[in-house]
Amino acid sequence: MSTKKYIATPYRTREILQRYKFSFKKSLGQNFLVDVNILENIIHHAGITKQAGALEVGPGIGALTEQLAIHADRVVAFEIDQRLLPILDDTLDGYENITILHQDILEADVHQMINKYFEKEQPIHLVANLPYYITTPILMKLLRERLPVTSITVMIQKEVADRMAAKPNTKSYGSLSIAVQYYTQAEVVMHVPKSVFMPQPNVDSSVLRLTLRDEPPVSVENEDYFFSLVQACFAQRRKTLRNNLTSYFQDVYDKEMITRLLEEIGIDGSRRGESLDMQEFATLANRFYNEQR
Ligand code: SAM
Repeated sequence: MSTKKYIATPYRTREILQRYKFSFKKSLGQNFLVDVNILENIIHHAGITKQAGALEVGPGIGALTEQLAIHADRVVAFEIDQRLLPILDDTLDGYENITILHQDILEADVHQMINKYFEKEQPIHLVANLPYYITTPILMKLLRERLPVTSITVMIQKEVADRMAAKPNTKSYGSLSIAVQYYTQAEVVMHVPKSVFMPQPNVDSSVLRLTLRDEPPVSVENEDYFFSLVQACFAQRRKTLRNNLTSYFQDVYDKEMITRLLEEIGIDGSRRGESLDMQEFATLANRFYNEQR
């Protein structure tokens, strides 16, 4: 098939949109990709092979879905916008290995869908150009559910990708970095110009690849407690650890007690949250958790 026939070209996308009188819904984060090279690059970074299963969130008019169908064994895609279903039926006609599910990804039982639609395909990769308005809720849902997927490769807002992949002592490092890196190894693999989208978004985009870990890199006694405490340590970025923790534990511990617990685990209370690595956060959370039990 010559690339001219692919959905992901400005010409074909415009033609499909006109034929169906489709109007973009900004509230659903609809920015369609119109560049096959970018899609092939994403698929390459995702590590898609002919034996693989591909999960997609938000197929739109099928630009990425089509490329996934070409490179993977089977594709299952979740689309919330009912208006796109007849369009996808048409644009993806001829590909026998695609299932489109009319479901909100935030409500979907993704685990069950994987069991239902993928039989022999291995490994399973999630690949998507995500709706930017709910990038973080989608990714956190998928990670918390501990899906049997090997990697998640997503086009998202550059600033969010930077935060998810950030290392300690950088401007972007925060509780989101810890939350994502607890479950995955995170890497920004591509920066993408606005010109490859229709319509063009207001923000810059990057492709983030998350490789799921078999086990978390640190051992925590209580995950909810750990994540809340990490958030508390970043509550006011310019404040010291001691001060952020004093505000967080205001009815439980006074400053002296907090200083004593920090000293016990060898963490200087005058440091800022952004200087702690994941192991230090785990040690901190476990010490406070055990004190409160
Ligand atoms: N994959 C297409 C592409 O790259 O051209 C479209 C990507 S567009 C950025 C995001 C897509 O996600 C849209 O088709 C939108 O309707 C869909 N979407 C938005 N919210 C969703 C949700 N909660 N669940 C499933 N799909 C959603």
